[in-house]
Amino acid sequence: MAIYNPESLSAEEFINHDEILETLQYAKANKNNIELIDSILEKARPKHYADGRIMHCPGLTHREASVLLACDIPEKIEEIYKLANEIKLSFYGNRIVMFAPLYLSNYCVNGCVYCPYHLKNKSIARKKLTQREIRDEVIALQDMGHKRLAIEAGEDPVHNPIEYILESIKTIYSVHHKNGDIRRVNVNIAATTVENYRKLKEAGIGTYILFQETYNKASYLELHPTGPKHDYDYHTEAMDRAMEGGIDDVGLGVLFGLEGYQYEFAGLLMHAEHLEAVHGVGPHTISVPRIKRADDIDPDSFENSLSDELFAKITACIRIAVPYTGMIISTRESEAVREKLLTLGISQISGASRTSVGGYTEDERPHDSEQFDVSDQRTLDEVVRWLMELEHIPSFCTACYREGRTGDRFMSLCKSGQILNCCHPNALMTLAEYLVDYATPETKRLGFDLIERELEKIPKEKIRRIAAENIERIKSSDKRDF
Ligand code: SAM
Repeated sequence: MAIYNPESLSAEEFINHDEILETLQYAKANKNNIELIDSILEKARPKHYADGRIMHCPGLTHREASVLLACDIPEKIEEIYKLANEIKLSFYGNRIVMFAPLYLSNYCVNGCVYCPYHLKNKSIARKKLTQREIRDEVIALQDMGHKRLAIEAGEDPVHNPIEYILESIKTIYSVHHKNGDIRRVNVNIAATTVENYRKLKEAGIGTYILFQETYNKASYLELHPTGPKHDYDYHTEAMDRAMEGGIDDVGLGVLFGLEGYQYEFAGLLMHAEHLEAVHGVGPHTISVPRIKRADDIDPDSFENSLSDELFAKITACIRIAVPYTGMIISTRESEAVREKLLTLGISQISGASRTSVGGYTEDERPHDSEQFDVSDQRTLDEVVRWLMELEHIPSFCTACYREGRTGDRFMSLCKSGQILNCCHPNALMTLAEYLVDYATPETKRLGFDLIERELEKIPKEKIRRIAAENIERIKSSDKRDF
């Protein structure tokens, strides 16, 4: 029997290779075990009080979820998809949080074989934004309507030291805009020390995001042959250090396509179990990036590329296993894939992204410093309109963060099922701000029709009235940020 101790702080123990292999065997042996599959689905189904609030929704262990992932019975897969959507709607409603990545620097000393930033790539144009250029990028993003950013940088202690990242965060928060400032800066930078995580916390970051890339240690070492990222344990234990440094919200992810997906899936859920066991709060978000074509990188050279169907199934099974965790899909994926995944548990998407350093201030989408090809190249207005046509509410809300509702405090709000009285009205107000300040006439018309319908869903009469009054105030005045 493998040693598997989710409470351990050691990467080797909480991502236990033997336990993952046993899980894969167990899943394979039970993939047609309808009785077991039904009992797992039943366990995962949210139970509600008579008034609709959620009473119980425990999620699944990595073993249980792996059985669902292995199952290839078409009717059961349909049930999995239905349940994933039900869970998303129970906890997050039909809101979809909007954000954009902001690339600060593509200087990098690592040798990651799938990433165009790798040190030996001489064909990519290396760029690092100055604080002046960051201001310009932020203004361009604010002019589109964004309120939430995820900053991205390669790992380079000389070009991108922590002081540069901290100064950049300060710059972003200091750019005031007549329609409201950037209210939440999430950070996706390389694994670092507890002391640096503490500094990031003090700088007021939202979620600290770090993709594991792969949980398979042997593959990890081959895929990251050189540079500080080669240290698997240091990378894998980063979220423990981040939480020790006071960061409440951490975002996990693997880069699908590098390794076998079943292995990654089990590892990802074991990581979530570990965070819950040790820190009392699981991941705030899970991202599901897939490897893409990029300068010097051919995704077909990786053996584990995934079909869209399999990718959808993985997304649905993650949603069922960790019902409270936000799930993020980026513009790496096409409109069609994003549309499908929105019904399987995704709660956050990026819009109008540029993955090049300095890309938002250029008229044409630049390709010379891009991190990867962007499949969904629509404008933010087009993405917002498309979401609303599909009956989702694009949300620019950052209220939880501003009111200190992070980590377990956010999770308890989510678990209490108070979304309809709290997040729903906030989402509608921030959507109204977007519509008044930025939308094209057709998007605006569609949006206010949607808001009218959605206001009716707020259960508490008093909250419904306040939200409606605030929305009227947004329409008739410059007052923002309620
Ligand atoms: N330097 C930081 C780190 O090492 O985690 C930030 C990483 S990078 C700017 C953000 C993420 O992009 C990586 O973690 C990786 O998963 C993803 N990425 C790298 N190359 C990619 C590719 N060719 N296609 C899609 N995603 C890629």
